[in-house]
Amino acid sequence: MPDPKTFAAGPKSIAAFQTACQLMPGGVNSPARAFGAVGGTPLFIDRAEGPYLHDIDGRRFIDYIGSWGPMILGHRPPEVIEAISKALERGTSFGAPTEAESRLAQQIIDAVPSVEKVRLVNSGTEATMSAIRVARGATGRHKVIKFEGNYHGHVDSLLVAAGSAAATLGVPDSPGVTPGASQDTIVLTYNDHEGVSNVFAEHPGEIAAVILEPVVGNMGCVAPTAEFLKTLRETTQRDGAVLIFDEVMTGFRLALGGAQEYYGVTPDMTTLGKIVGGGMPLGAYGGRAEIMNQVLPAGKVFQAGTLSGNPVAVAAGSATLERLAKQPPYELLESLGQRLAEGLDAAATRHGVDHVVQRVGSMMTLFFHHGPVSSWNEASQCDRERFSRYFWGMIGEGVYMPCSQFEALFFGVTHTEAMIDETIAAADKVLGRLQS
Ligand SMILES: *Cc1c(COP(=O)(O)O)cnc(C)c1O
Repeated sequence: MPDPKTFAAGPKSIAAFQTACQLMPGGVNSPARAFGAVGGTPLFIDRAEGPYLHDIDGRRFIDYIGSWGPMILGHRPPEVIEAISKALERGTSFGAPTEAESRLAQQIIDAVPSVEKVRLVNSGTEATMSAIRVARGATGRHKVIKFEGNYHGHVDSLLVAAGSAAATLGVPDSPGVTPGASQDTIVLTYNDHEGVSNVFAEHPGEIAAVILEPVVGNMGCVAPTAEFLKTLRETTQRDGAVLIFDEVMTGFRLALGGAQEYYGVTPDMTTLGKIVGGGMPLGAYGGRAEIMNQVLPAGKVFQAGTLSGNPVAVAAGSATLERLAKQPPYELLESLGQRLAEGLDAAATRHGVDHVVQRVGSMMTLFFHHGPVSSWNEASQCDRERFSRYFWGMIGEGVYMPCSQFEALFFGVTHTEAMIDETIAAADKVLGRLQS
């Protein structure tokens, strides 16, 4: 599907992908990397520096995926690389407590309003899986509400986004997820506050938790309405259910305290990943002390990990959070974001392309959709064929955008106004070509 007039992967990437496909399912270790949504061969990466990715064919791209979120300081930030090097000198894993874990825990607790106690894990998926278990353990209830188009990692009970707009009792999205694993998952429409109220009215005292992306990145960038957040906070509080903000993507990105700081709504539990590990595999979940004290060995809810709190990952995360706390980049990111959003919007308008640009801080999506996107139902109506030609066109101009219409783009502190302008000029060229 890549437009031959624009760009395709170079010969080295093509050869590397052929090799990889014989060794790993689909040639990758995570499906989004395979370029399934845009067609063609993925670019194999050699190295990265600041805002740039370099592929093995020797080409350089302005990077708008930032490893899908973590690289808010750009690639190889000196203070993070130094912290990793220092940690390496002492050893890579001990299976025993370290002071560095308490330091990172304190940084998280200081930054994130809802977190009084925290547990470190190895990924965002582990964080959401554990948070759901703890919420069920703490409430003694089974049912969980999630929203269509929200991604919470590959947790069995949450791998349900299921087709219909109405409240559906979970039907799994993936072979291998049994109906039993998802039968207690209720799927609702994002931003449908009445749907939430209705389910609580129908199932009083049965809902253990409501989990959501407080700004969605995983169906493209979709913001919550004020009414939606307010209803979620009020209904869960009234009913005794646990409100979980999945801030794996938004945490430390929209504000130091994530979306809960940005919107001033405090959940009961929060899950973290991506930025919290500074580019190393690390996740975390936390919340009110009373809930977190249910976790073994303080309480009875089992959750463990051989490499949890890994000293190298903790060093990277800690250095990243320290830099974000000392020199908050959020005003800079807001102004870069505004510049990029206005530029992309103007370019698409100039060329008469049906579109909407949606942005919160440094998360953004150019949807090829007529009018605003507030739910999965609307997101799924985007012109994906146009998106794939736009994606490959931008690659041809040296700009690496997310390889799916349903992913938010990210940028960080090493992106400059000049790079943003270069990106807008590239988009202007590519969108013009798409229309001709
Ligand atoms: C990326 C992501 C996850 C999963 O995190 P992994 O580290 O990939 O397991 C969960 N929730 C949200 C909102 C995410 O963006």
